Amino acid sequence: MNMETTGDAVRRVGGCMCGEVRYSVAGTPVRVGICHCKDCRTYGGSAFSAYGIWPRTAFASDGEVSTYAGRSFCPKCGSRLFALDAKEAEIMIGSLDAAPSDLIPTYELWIGRREGWLPEMPWTDLFEGDRHDVEGNWRQPLRRPRRDG
Ligand SMILES: [Zn+2]
Ligand SMILES: [Zn+2]
Repeated sequence: MNMETTGDAVRRVGGCMCGEVRYSVAGTPVRVGICHCKDCRTYGGSAFSAYGIWPRTAFASDGEVSTYAGRSFCPKCGSRLFALDAKEAEIMIGSLDAAPSDLIPTYELWIGRREGWLPEMPWTDLFEGDRHDVEGNWRQPLRRPRRDG
């Protein structure tokens, strides 16, 4: 197993509502985003999903999850938790123990489905659909705001 030294990097912990599933992610997320697509809406049971992506190697978990369409949740309490693939761990940031106040989304997906009552976040990159096309290439955002720093 390839263990990476995280040094003083922050380790965030989270889990489900009943406590059966616990997980941690080490270091800074690769990106933090919001998705307004119907899958994310239905899966999360809310108007949109907010998530952070960490390298798969930065992720560890304990406890049994159920997985549907790549998205994992606690089979006991139903909390939505994460989606894992070989490279990345996508974490529903609301499942972190500490409120995700410093994990500020920098992009929004499927903005045509964004609710009209949600206020604009002028700093986000906006995408009409997913970030990747079918071949896995990054798409150009509709809006890429200028950020300071
Ligand atoms: Zn649970
Ligand atoms: Zn989505």
